[in-house]
Amino acid sequence: MIKKFIRKILGVKNQAEGGANRKPKVLGPKEHGIDPQLLSANAIRVTQTLQEHGFKAFVVGGAVRDLLTGVKPKDFDIATNATPEQVKRLFRRAFIIGKRFQIVHVMFGQDLLEVTTFRGASSEGAPKDEHGRVLRDNTFGEQHEDAARRDFTVNAMYYDPANQTVLDYHGGIADIRKKVLRIIGVPEARYREDPVRMLRVVRFAAKLEFSIDPATRAPITVMAPLINNVPAARVFDEMLKLLTSGHAMACLQQLRKEGLHHGLLPLLDVVLEQPMGEKFVTLALTNTDQRVHQGKRISPGFLFAALLWHQVLEKWEAYKVAGEFPIPALHLAADDVLHAQTDALAIQRKIGSDMRDIWAMQPRFDKRAGKTPYKMLEHERMRAGYDFLLLRCASGEIDAEIGAWWTAFMEGDSEQREALINSKPKAGSGEAAKKRRRRAPRKAAASEA
Ligand code: ATP
Ligand code: MG
Repeated sequence: MIKKFIRKILGVKNQAEGGANRKPKVLGPKEHGIDPQLLSANAIRVTQTLQEHGFKAFVVGGAVRDLLTGVKPKDFDIATNATPEQVKRLFRRAFIIGKRFQIVHVMFGQDLLEVTTFRGASSEGAPKDEHGRVLRDNTFGEQHEDAARRDFTVNAMYYDPANQTVLDYHGGIADIRKKVLRIIGVPEARYREDPVRMLRVVRFAAKLEFSIDPATRAPITVMAPLINNVPAARVFDEMLKLLTSGHAMACLQQLRKEGLHHGLLPLLDVVLEQPMGEKFVTLALTNTDQRVHQGKRISPGFLFAALLWHQVLEKWEAYKVAGEFPIPALHLAADDVLHAQTDALAIQRKIGSDMRDIWAMQPRFDKRAGKTPYKMLEHERMRAGYDFLLLRCASGEIDAEIGAWWTAFMEGDSEQREALINSKPKAGSGEAAKKRRRRAPRKAAASEA
């Protein structure tokens, strides 16, 4: 009892010093209940090879967390005391990558495993920027130091497939059972070192349906602006993870709750305040979540095109009111929105061009006469453009009839297609709308755009 008490005190003290708990709790198969069937053959292959060469090797991080909750991990990270060079030598297809942290990518066919060398305890000597963010840190260390460097207690457990034991340095098992996310060490210090951890806690909370420990949660609102200081490309990667986690809607709600969305998608604030915009974004994200759960591919271009569409609509309208022709006005609006986003969130060139294509296709769906609809069928991004059109219909932005017409056109045989083209286009499209738009640009854009 007294021992336990002292350990508890020491544990708290260690946490304050960065959580350098030296002795892990060791759990056997009966205690942790991991089903070995859930492990990938390649994860076993990597740990086994390393161990056969005298190194320590464990499955670590999210995979252990998933295994403990009975979920088949989507990928496996491996931690070892072998250096990146030593790891590389043991596998035929292994590549050392990364600047901030060097890691080794080991490939088997399409399967990729990330192998990291145990990190050293202290980031004190590491180069930092003026806000305390660690820029580079490649010091290697002991396993207990590596554990203390990880972000959350539930992410700091090690599983050895050979003897089926779990090593738990920071009470991760207890937190998994309590369904709570707790940062290792002093929360403020850990967020300062790497502000992306604030986004990670939001993603994990939404994805795992865990609560956030109050001490872990408290500093976030105050420290949120530190995200602005993280390289935009890294923020973009993290946002993409968040949006394709299968819990995008929940993540976004959590981001707003923590006040973290300001610097990330500055335009999203405005969008979510308009009922139509909110409906559109909600539909798009629910749709994305469903696709993830069905194992379907997610196109980042489509996703960001949807998130920013209502902003494009607003600017498009403004350019038209200012006298631009509709098509150039749409391109100008797209430029503005993409440009405004890049400071906070570096949207990659390819994704930006996908977004632009999807947006630019939208007015073309109004042209349901002559050869245009046939040309649209051959458009490289027809599927994405059409899915986007359906979202606009479902959100009430445009007449559902347009979506139904295109569905029938795409599914129809040549005779049915001819008949559709010859059928009189309904209100909200074609010539009638053009005339209306010329007369009353503001109203027409709302119904047609
Ligand atoms: P996911 O299910 O999204 O893959 P994950 O926990 O495996 O979740 P990764 O980004 O793959 O997340 O990272 C693997 C592990 O590396 C984490 O579990 C954590 O231990 C550690 N880690 C990752 N990012 C950080 C960070 N920013 N700070 C500290 N530790 C981190
Ligand atoms: Mg992972």
